[in-house]
Amino acid sequence: TAIPRRREVPALPQGVTAEAFQAAMADLRTLLGAEHVEVIDQALRDGWYMEHPNTHDMMTILDDEEFVASAVVYPGSTEDVQTVVRWANKHLVPIFPISMGRNLGYGGAAPRVRGSVVVDLGRRMRQILDISAEDFTCLVEPGVSFYALHDEIQARGLGDQLWVDVPDLGGGSVIGNTVDRGVGYTPYGDHWATHSGLEVVLPTGEVVRTGMGALPGNNTWQAFPYGFGPYSDGIFSQSNFGIVTKMGMTLMPNPGGHESFLYTFQREDDLAQLIEIIRPLRIRNILENVAQLRHVTQSVAVRGQPRSDYYEPVDGLVPDDIIHAEAAKTPTGDHTWAYYGTTYGPPEARAVKLAAVDAAFRQIPGCRKIDTSTFPADEYFWSRDKIASGTPDLHELRWCQWVPNGSHIAFSPVSPIRGKDAAALNELARKRHEEHGIDYFPAFCVGLREMHLIVEIVFDRTSAPKKAAALACLRDMVDDAAALGYGEYRTHLALMDQVAGTYSWNDNALMKMHEQLKDTLDPNGILAPGRCGIWPKRYRGRGWEM
Ligand code: FAD
Repeated sequence: TAIPRRREVPALPQGVTAEAFQAAMADLRTLLGAEHVEVIDQALRDGWYMEHPNTHDMMTILDDEEFVASAVVYPGSTEDVQTVVRWANKHLVPIFPISMGRNLGYGGAAPRVRGSVVVDLGRRMRQILDISAEDFTCLVEPGVSFYALHDEIQARGLGDQLWVDVPDLGGGSVIGNTVDRGVGYTPYGDHWATHSGLEVVLPTGEVVRTGMGALPGNNTWQAFPYGFGPYSDGIFSQSNFGIVTKMGMTLMPNPGGHESFLYTFQREDDLAQLIEIIRPLRIRNILENVAQLRHVTQSVAVRGQPRSDYYEPVDGLVPDDIIHAEAAKTPTGDHTWAYYGTTYGPPEARAVKLAAVDAAFRQIPGCRKIDTSTFPADEYFWSRDKIASGTPDLHELRWCQWVPNGSHIAFSPVSPIRGKDAAALNELARKRHEEHGIDYFPAFCVGLREMHLIVEIVFDRTSAPKKAAALACLRDMVDDAAALGYGEYRTHLALMDQVAGTYSWNDNALMKMHEQLKDTLDPNGILAPGRCGIWPKRYRGRGWEM
């Protein structure tokens, strides 16, 4: 879809005149080559997940013109990135790095400050620099997607040895997903925890390598994440302190077999007991992967048919009885919660774990183990099976078709793996969805000692009232959750100030430290101002927060 522009084109960064912008662009073309610089002076185009725009958020929750780039630049090397950063300091133009820009649900490719120049690293920096079948590690550039890494491992004949952990959609960048602390669904699902070593261009143009990468001639960069001295990697995730140009990642050894399984639970109230049962199994590694516990509305929506096929009114929630009747027609059958898990290892090892899980889950009346052996090949269960065994997939996109022009934004609080926390979060989110007339799509992703609740709000991006309702619902849930002691693990650009504001212990001490770091590392405030609520001095207190 082409979106007509309604504000100045290109979208100039605040405080930069049209003349100054054109002069800066001419300079950038000279430095990088005109073919690697693109001024965005045309209608914005949304595309779709695999052909996504790098100029704006194709799933925007705000006005179309809010988070829009003025230009996009395509560096081809770390040196090019340094050049871009130094150029930005010279002209005081804000820049916003993306690896591939498929951060859908959290802002896509859009910059936080309108008119920023998007630094699209993924277009030209797409080398897989190393895959080690001895150490089970790899070293990648920002343009390497989960698909590309997986395919390269297969092409090198290493597929029976090395697994990549993939998120629900495989088209994203391994670096982009990891620096935003994204998750996948094998035992290596916590991507940040499994990375090892970064190369980073700082906002003033210097390059650093973290961990063992700082030791010239080392051979341990991808094997030992810490090196010597302070562990600095953390400040380059969910921040605006540097541009990551290389990252090491550990790879999972093929465990010698896997088996996915599906259990369903009938009642909404089974949630608390089920989570209590899951916790010890997960912490003891009997439940081995970041499994998903999904709600029936999502089970129906992921079939890919719009809600209008089930329920005519465009407003209000689809009634529960309709959802349950539709679920009953599917191979999974009627349920309220569906647990998708996977066990790993040779058959005899799997059998022991599966028996323990079965005995534990069956304590819940109405629990059913679903026979998936007869499921058709395109049943969602097989997508979960692929993802839990390191094969990228795109099936998850289908629930975006629930409404016309389907877009989504996520509420993503974390909590301990406790029944009372699951019930409290589920109750507050359901209540707000009902108030705002939005169908409720929760999924609990259970990590080792915590769980992420991911609630996807699906909305029509062309409808102002639907966008307003989605945003209001999200803002209410963030505040409600914070009042109970729950915080988001990650959020959309539009919510970053609000979420950062909930981490306010001791008079916002943590944000004060982030601001000090920002002002030291980025004195001109050119790198991704406002990302994750961190505003440089030049912007602070001038009405940018939202
Ligand atoms: P990018 O968009 O390139 O990067 C994300 C952000 O990180 C950027 O906006 C930027 O601010 C920062 N950044 C990126 N690269 C750099 C860099 N080199 N240096 C400094 N900062 C940088 N996500 C999950 O984690 N797990 C899921 O299971 C999941 N499921 C999804 C399902 C659906 C249906 C959809 C639509 C989305 C889902 N997502 C999920 C969200 C998202 O698609 C992925 O996280 C995706 O990998 C992020 O896009 P990307 O990898 O292209 O990162």
